[in-house]
Amino acid sequence: MPKKFLIYNTLSGRIEEFVPLKEGVVKMYTCGPTVYDYAHIGNFRSYIAEDLLKRFLRFLGYKVIHTMNITDVDDKTITGARTQGTSLKEFTAKYEKAFFEDIDKLRISKADYYPRATENIDGMIKIIQGLLDKGYAYEKEGSIYYRISSFPEYGKLSKIKKEDLKKGIRIESDEYEKENARDFSLWKAKKPGEPFWKAPFGEGRPGWHIECSTMSMKYFGPTLDIHAGGVDNIFPHHENEIAQSEAYTGKPFVRYWFHIQHLIVNGEKMSKSKGNFYTLRDLLSMGFSPRAIRYLLLSAHYRKILNFTFDALYQAAASLKRITDFLFELETKEFDEGKTGEAEKMVRETRKKFTDSLADDLNISSAMGAIFNLIHWGNKALEEGKLKKEDTRKIKSMFYEFDRVLAVLPEQIIEELPEEIMELIKKREEARKNMDFATSDAIRDELFKRGIILEDTKEGTRWKMIKK
Ligand code: AMP
Ligand code: ZN
Repeated sequence: MPKKFLIYNTLSGRIEEFVPLKEGVVKMYTCGPTVYDYAHIGNFRSYIAEDLLKRFLRFLGYKVIHTMNITDVDDKTITGARTQGTSLKEFTAKYEKAFFEDIDKLRISKADYYPRATENIDGMIKIIQGLLDKGYAYEKEGSIYYRISSFPEYGKLSKIKKEDLKKGIRIESDEYEKENARDFSLWKAKKPGEPFWKAPFGEGRPGWHIECSTMSMKYFGPTLDIHAGGVDNIFPHHENEIAQSEAYTGKPFVRYWFHIQHLIVNGEKMSKSKGNFYTLRDLLSMGFSPRAIRYLLLSAHYRKILNFTFDALYQAAASLKRITDFLFELETKEFDEGKTGEAEKMVRETRKKFTDSLADDLNISSAMGAIFNLIHWGNKALEEGKLKKEDTRKIKSMFYEFDRVLAVLPEQIIEELPEEIMELIKKREEARKNMDFATSDAIRDELFKRGIILEDTKEGTRWKMIKK
């Protein structure tokens, strides 16, 4: 039995104990990118929070099956392809590729399935036909709409006011506000110049919401354990997904709805339409490391708004460096054989605090607090020469265990230096031996320019990377 895990469920509006439908197995669906542009770091905040959830569930011993859709046909992709004068496929393929490159850089673990909307049109047609047959949907001028008044529970996720429902009035676009809750389109009648598919109810293309209902049920059946996305997805997207799926199957669609608060800039949601966004590529070209960006997006609780500033990003890089510097010391200093009771106790307590914190609705601040508390203690113990070899082994292995959840440590704490730099370090050591301090200082300056700091110790010269 995995540890008790508490998680906030948007549907109930409460923190609940997580219990999957099938013991030990989690069916998890997350709303994926609409591939019409490079994803911005607001999007990545959501994907990274979902990654934290997934990695933590695995850390607790669950088998997680994860599906993330790729929206490659919708209002935005069609407009984008038309503006660039390319085919929809060519247009979306470019951004899909960029998306996979970006998530690799950010160490977002891969989903088990990435279905594309355009490859699941048959499934969508089947569900739309089912909704028509059962009277939940109707046709109007070649398009098919969902009749929200036919589903009495409409609004249960977003807690929409019943009086705000505009019954019998339709909306064409996929995105709209709560005040505008109307019958939404499941299938949009063919328009000149737009891609279309054949269906028994006419030629056209799917609406955005039916895509996710179809692709989640394809992999998981009528009921899944977790469905996730940013809070902007609660309405209308996820509300509509519930209405479509539950009307079609007659079964509960999702057990736990997990929503991530926004990344904002100067009080406004980071978004393409507002133009206040940074892509991952923007930040990498400014010299920030993907690990620092991941750390920043990860280190705020997923239900709290996170304000993006460059100061915060520098701070994230500094916090990360505090961790890697500590591990570097453990890796490179000489220690006496043996172990100490105090270190063992610290490791045990840190592991417990880290796990308990994350099991409490992913309380990341408290989990990171436990880590920095250990580092604070560890640095002091290092200074006082109190640590033994076995202690350092235990501490290091705890950090790597935590990194299965956090994924922020570099692959190697001691990175391999290029040969020419190793040569320079050797030359400098020789110069020092020969009391040629002019040469040795010149080499030190040269290495510093390349981001390497040298430290002369009793055991010889040690080096540190400062750029990463
Ligand atoms: P989209 O490609 O627009 O469908 O968005 C992909 C994911 O990113 C969805 O889960 C959105 O809810 C999420 N998202 C969009 N903007 C932000 C933001 N500023 N902060 C956090 N998540 C966001
Ligand atoms: Zn979706």
